[in-house]
Amino acid sequence: MLSRLESYKLRQYGRDRWRACCPACGGTNGSKLSVGEGDSGAVLLRCWAGCEAEQVAHALGLELTDLFPPKLTHHSSGKPARRRMLSAGQALDLLDAEMTLAIVCSADMAAGKALDEPTRERLLKSAARVSMLKDEARA
Ligand SMILES: [Zn+2]
Repeated sequence: MLSRLESYKLRQYGRDRWRACCPACGGTNGSKLSVGEGDSGAVLLRCWAGCEAEQVAHALGLELTDLFPPKLTHHSSGKPARRRMLSAGQALDLLDAEMTLAIVCSADMAAGKALDEPTRERLLKSAARVSMLKDEARA
């Protein structure tokens, strides 16, 4: 990451803190991009002109996911590292399935059909599952 920013007037100005020109909007004019390292080892990007971290990553030929370490650990907080149980792809597949259920139910309701009790319970479970997926993705 830092080696890619070297051509953008990268300079260090503190421990784990750098500044560079924003590759997404600034080119080589002005030092508008703050670069830092988060507690988890993730690269933190902040463009003062308002570019999203994703835009900056793309301008460097990287994906947003490249800014995060392969395995998140929490050394600084002292909490044990938690392993993800699902891959991002699996989480999205499950999310897709829950969304399909919601669409089917709303189509039934739009057609004037009342949802029966088991379906309502299934929908509540679906909401709980999506909430679990959110926690999982942030783990
Ligand atoms: Zn920018």
